[in-house]
Amino acid sequence: RKLREVNFYQFIARKKSGNNEVSVIMFTFFPIDDDHNLIILAKRDVTSTLEYDILTGGRNRIGFLHLVQQRLRNSTSTDEYSMVFFNIQSLHHINVLHGITAGDTVLQHFYSTLGNSNLQPVAYARVEADHFYALVPRSQVTEDNIHSLCRLETTYKDKTIPYHCVCGIYHLTSLKELPANMCGKANVAANFVNDPFNKPWKEFDEELSKRYISDSEVIDRLDQALANNEFVPYYQPIVNVRTGRIEMAEALARWISPEYGFVSPGYFIPSLEKHGGVSRVDMSIANQVFELQRSRLREGKNAVPIDVNVSWVDFGDASFVNNLINHLQDEEVTSDLCRYEITESTISELSESNSKIIDLFKQYKAKLLIDDFGQGYSFSTMRDLDFCIVKLDKSLIDKLGTNRKADLLVDTFIGMFHKMGAKVVAEGVEKLQQVEYLRRVGCDYIQGYYFYRPMPQSEFIALLDKEAEMQPIQEEKASEQVWVEREILEAQYDQLKKSNEEAA
Ligand code: C2E
Ligand code: MG
Ligand code: MG
Repeated sequence: RKLREVNFYQFIARKKSGNNEVSVIMFTFFPIDDDHNLIILAKRDVTSTLEYDILTGGRNRIGFLHLVQQRLRNSTSTDEYSMVFFNIQSLHHINVLHGITAGDTVLQHFYSTLGNSNLQPVAYARVEADHFYALVPRSQVTEDNIHSLCRLETTYKDKTIPYHCVCGIYHLTSLKELPANMCGKANVAANFVNDPFNKPWKEFDEELSKRYISDSEVIDRLDQALANNEFVPYYQPIVNVRTGRIEMAEALARWISPEYGFVSPGYFIPSLEKHGGVSRVDMSIANQVFELQRSRLREGKNAVPIDVNVSWVDFGDASFVNNLINHLQDEEVTSDLCRYEITESTISELSESNSKIIDLFKQYKAKLLIDDFGQGYSFSTMRDLDFCIVKLDKSLIDKLGTNRKADLLVDTFIGMFHKMGAKVVAEGVEKLQQVEYLRRVGCDYIQGYYFYRPMPQSEFIALLDKEAEMQPIQEEKASEQVWVEREILEAQYDQLKKSNEEAA
């Protein structure tokens, strides 16, 4: 019938041979003589053309899985190979800042670097967007070999473009496992990288798999979770470095889910940023913080500024922006009490594409903090923005005391931001030596487990109430007094800390 209608008929079929190899065959029919009902059938094996990626010239997903199957067929031991997964982190920024062709250059560069690397892959491919997989001899999976692939640079039109990746590693446990599952496990492991600059890789274990919530699960449950108020702020107090007193706090989102239990933002914010919905969560957190501040003021209690995190995606959402303007215009809860933390990477997005937001911040006198400073974007992007506080990232603080340059860097940044009229918070402070150094070099505030972990609202309120009862500290005498007071404080809050730690 089709031949009569259009004079041509074609279809593709997948053929599985005895050893489970799949090939793809294209059948094409042409009528050549209607009188005698003669037809030509052309049959062509198109497996190889469907298995290649045009951008890199290497295999694509189908081709890669096929090749892995072939390589493993000759393997006798499960210890022989590992599956590694690389996810390029900064591709979105590169596309925005330098254009799509520059992004393509990065992808091609990573593909060839991976192929020629010391990992010596026996199969490797760009499987989708900026995701690469490689089957590599297990003996080649060393920290150095992985690390050297996680921080790279290439050139595009005489410009150097640095980029970085995170990596997930799965050491094969069975040769019978489907290659797609091996890839899935390497991918899950990469989601648990929590220090992408210092340790950008993670090895898979079954425990990770239990804790992993896939992007689609987060997205599917979002409406219901918002309706049930499952996203709540936890508060991490930030203390004055000289007095040890709480002078502000950061609100950090937690998802208290009936299915998954207590979920940290690292497990759901990236999914929501990628697939949409983060601004609805951010708005919910900002509104809850706002309500807390309003009720403290109405009850005549002490209130400290609370910072909420905003994501660059939020600024593309009209209802988030309107909500933000409403908060900024409120006369009771002034903009000093509800402030916004934006990361260096968000700022580069804003100044490139959305200067209206910067104008809006200025117009409504929003109080902005620069979050995670030191994670590696450019200073120039900070020029246009009025910010009151810069938060030095934990990766800078972790290095304190390890070498002279690391110490000098923090000292210099503090001096520089003071000259710009901003205060400085050190994030992720866990040790007394770090506190002492930061105090010596004039850092203003400290946020970190050394003082307080993030805590639920009820505990935070109790802590603020206790803090209000304490005697004020004179700053001149503070240096000696604080450390005595700290001990008293610590004793007082021991109980509180213990329950915090349990919650964390
Ligand atoms: P961030 O804004 O830089 O928040 C600081 C993170 O460092 C928090 O992790 C905090 O618990 C952790 N931290 C603080 N002190 C220490 C310490 O001494 N040691 C260690 N190891 N960690 C410390 P958390 O709560 O898991 O948040 C992770 C990130 O998730 C945040 O980093 C922020 O970027 C994002 N996030 C959190 N809440 C929200 C939110 O409501 N909206 C958006 N868009 N992002 C959020
Ligand atoms: Mg923050
Ligand atoms: Mg931070």
